[in-house]
Amino acid sequence: MHPFVLERPRDLSAALSFGAQAGRNDAPVEYIAGGTDMVQLLQEYVRRPDRLVSLAGVLDDGIEIGPQGLRLGAAATMAEVAAHQAVVEHFPLISQALLNSASPQVRNQATMGGNLLQRTRCPYFRDVGYEACNKRVPGSGCAALDGENRWHAVLGTSDDCIAVHPSDLAVALVALDASVELRGTGGDRSVPLSDLHRLPRDTPHLEAVLEPGEVITAITVPATAAGLRSHYLKVRDRASFEFAVVSAAVAIETDGARIRQARVALGGVGTKPWRLPNVETALAGADFEPAVLRQAAALAAEGTRGRGHNDFKIELMQRAIVRAVEIAGARA
Ligand SMILES: Cc1cc2nc3c(=O)[nH]c(=O)nc-3n(C[C@H](O)[C@H](O)[C@H](O)COP(=O)(O)OP(=O)(O)OC[C@H]3O[C@@H](n4cnc5c(N)ncnc54)[C@H](O)[C@@H]3O)c2cc1C
Ligand code: SF4
Repeated sequence: MHPFVLERPRDLSAALSFGAQAGRNDAPVEYIAGGTDMVQLLQEYVRRPDRLVSLAGVLDDGIEIGPQGLRLGAAATMAEVAAHQAVVEHFPLISQALLNSASPQVRNQATMGGNLLQRTRCPYFRDVGYEACNKRVPGSGCAALDGENRWHAVLGTSDDCIAVHPSDLAVALVALDASVELRGTGGDRSVPLSDLHRLPRDTPHLEAVLEPGEVITAITVPATAAGLRSHYLKVRDRASFEFAVVSAAVAIETDGARIRQARVALGGVGTKPWRLPNVETALAGADFEPAVLRQAAALAAEGTRGRGHNDFKIELMQRAIVRAVEIAGARA
């Protein structure tokens, strides 16, 4: 492990003053929250900051629900949010996505902010024995393009990086039109979750839109998303403790036997959490006939680009959408 200084600021403004930069491997100063991702990356020499700024005790960990919707403090843990009665009742998609993530031990420690900014599980990124990884070392190439790319993305890829965004929570939040509240030395701002993560393009080492020093302070989910019938379907290589091969977050409003409005996002297939407005439009007004659902889900394949080992995801993600819509529709 590269030696670093651990800073334990007394409050948030002291934390911000260190100018830590989330999600960049070349950053000399980084934040640490629950540490479940950061410590692994430090141990494996993937990240080598000179200074780590602990966010423990300086960020809100509240979970509030009101007329405006849901507000999750960035320090709330995955376990606390997943089990919170109001979340389970009114935003079950969030609870389901969290309970399908990691292990109970990790969920007890990991925070909302850290979850959204966890780094990709691309094996070439996480093993410094591989020299070619543009995300870790800009300009070094991408070992996954012609390597073992079964887990990699088919949406939002570039010739420089095809790594999948790993957070299940983020997929559910994108489907629910959530936003993140950010705070930096310059003040506060709110960013839609769909804009928090960048596409890799030719700068895959820049993963999020946070400015130096900025932290996520909270996640907000509008009340309009409450009460929708929803389902988070996660397809993975083993039943627990595993990242998504493909996941589908679906929330629908029905009008009798028809879908009035649908929200659909995919995980495991995109370089960022992937919302599908074209599929949503096709589902609006549809009944639950399998052929109709399949036709709508087929639009998810627009713009996909497989790399060989991961071609199967293009068919699998359409099937996941159909299944998730059927399950959501069957909920009382
Ligand atoms: C064995 C294992 C299995 C897992 N399986 C899954 C899974 O199936 N699905 C899934 O979604 N996740 C999974 N995870 C990942 C896990 O969810 C993340 O490790 C965890 O959510 C990170 O949260 P943390 O608080 O520990 O973040 P940390 O490790 O402390 O930080 C992660 C990153 O976020 C930054 N950061 C943290 N908080 C803030 C903030 N408030 N503002 C700005 N930057 C911040 C840090 O600088 C760092 O870059 C798994 C992890 C493990 C170890
Ligand atoms: S896919 Fe991205 S993270 Fe993986 S090796 Fe290529 S550049 Fe690195």
